[in-house]
Amino acid sequence: MKSSTSFAFDNTYAAQLVDFYLPAKPAVFPSPSLMAFNDGLAVELGLDSTQLRQEAHLVFSGQLLPEGATPIAQAYAGHQFGGFSHQLGDGRAMMLGEVVDKAGVRRDIQLKGSGPTPFSRGGDGKASVGPVLREYLVSASLHALGVSTTRMLAAVSTGEQVYRERPFPGAVVTRVAASHLRVGTFQFFAARDDRVRTKQLADYAIKRHYPQLLGSTDPYLGLLAAVSQAQADLIAGWMCIGFIHGVMNTDNFTIAGETIDFGPCAFMDAFDRSAVFSSIDYQGRYAYGNQPQIAQWNLARFAEVLLPLIDDDMDAAVARVQEVLTDFATHYRDRWVAGMRSKLGLMEADTSDHELTSGLTELLEEHQLDYTSTLRCLSSVARAADSVSHPLLNTSKDFNAWGQRWLHRLAQQPGGQAAAADRMDTVNPVYIPRNHKVEEALTSAVDDQNLEPFERLLGLIMDPFEVRGGCDSYAEAAPPTFTKCYQTFCGT
Ligand code: AMP
Ligand code: MG
Repeated sequence: MKSSTSFAFDNTYAAQLVDFYLPAKPAVFPSPSLMAFNDGLAVELGLDSTQLRQEAHLVFSGQLLPEGATPIAQAYAGHQFGGFSHQLGDGRAMMLGEVVDKAGVRRDIQLKGSGPTPFSRGGDGKASVGPVLREYLVSASLHALGVSTTRMLAAVSTGEQVYRERPFPGAVVTRVAASHLRVGTFQFFAARDDRVRTKQLADYAIKRHYPQLLGSTDPYLGLLAAVSQAQADLIAGWMCIGFIHGVMNTDNFTIAGETIDFGPCAFMDAFDRSAVFSSIDYQGRYAYGNQPQIAQWNLARFAEVLLPLIDDDMDAAVARVQEVLTDFATHYRDRWVAGMRSKLGLMEADTSDHELTSGLTELLEEHQLDYTSTLRCLSSVARAADSVSHPLLNTSKDFNAWGQRWLHRLAQQPGGQAAAADRMDTVNPVYIPRNHKVEEALTSAVDDQNLEPFERLLGLIMDPFEVRGGCDSYAEAAPPTFTKCYQTFCGT
């Protein structure tokens, strides 16, 4: 059966990279039911969202294939927690196809949890309601906070049970991405010493994501530099909002620089560089404060696969990529400082910015202050006539000294402290997906089939800068007893 909604598919990956995937077929589900649908994203994609809503439960569970869809499972490899797996691939996802959106950007549409594929390696290829709704919520939050991310178009419960540590209700999430090219996609072919296909993939990636490199004399080094910049922007974005991805394996590290895979992710409450919530990250490899270094490590793995394309002389190639990898650290730092500068209401860059922003994060860490609400509260410090006596700044002598330096900077800017405070309220969120609120929403959906808490939370985080009446508990940190025991899990 075909869908009556027109998707205008134009599937370049399936057509041009025939050795890079295997065909896949969605599983049959007993009674799919729509849990969430992203109208705004549907409109961006040029889809008729009113018509699509009628059949969304069927289309986004793979029961009704839109005209032109070519379901495929992509091949990839990857370093997981530092160890290399040469064969991963889409084991629980299949791409339906690509659509050029209204802004002219090509986007992948992929079902996740739609059943086994040739890459499932014994897994069931399925997903369950809890992790699917987590992916939906957290990606919506990142998008609303201006951080580059894959987006969720729909979440459908399938009516069947999936078996994890106990039976859970099954679900499928539809993911929209600038592409699903990962460092791991390159590693799949490079690990097989397949230089021809590695080059083919690099050329495809350049054409799709970094066309400014077409015709360049050094396109593959340019590709590394472009991905490095995109990832530096992304990681700086995560760090500025207190987001911990939790599983930065090279197969979850995209060429387009979007956040992908929201398994063991979380936002931290109290500022803590060592914060980690993933149940399987025993060593804290992917802790909050390690994310920039891990990104650089992942880029080094990307550089390795590109070396043979960059220069026939291996030593020369190594020297050239080394420079790009070193630049990552500088670029990341610049992006992070720029992000923090805007969170602090500062308009002009100053040589003391890094010291000022690091000074704040050190104080937050020392006093174990909640990151998001403290940053939000700083605008009220800036607004108060007698701000130096604000209770926040009087947490300690050091905080007060820091506050005076910061307020002095604000006072020298056009509009002074009041204008800075107004700007700050447009970049420091009131609402993020607080871990305890996410758990509350997921538990209610899973155990009671009640989506109301999910919808309420989603509504707040999609519009995160506006204070809403009666929602104070959504703006507060979880009780410390909750945070101490909180763990997130990988599987979607
Ligand atoms: P992820 O943790 O989502 O990044 O996935 C890592 C790898 O495990 C990918 O190759 C997935 O396709 C595969 N995988 C995870 N869960 C399943 C599942 N339930 N069935 C089959 N493959 C899976
Ligand atoms: Mg993954």
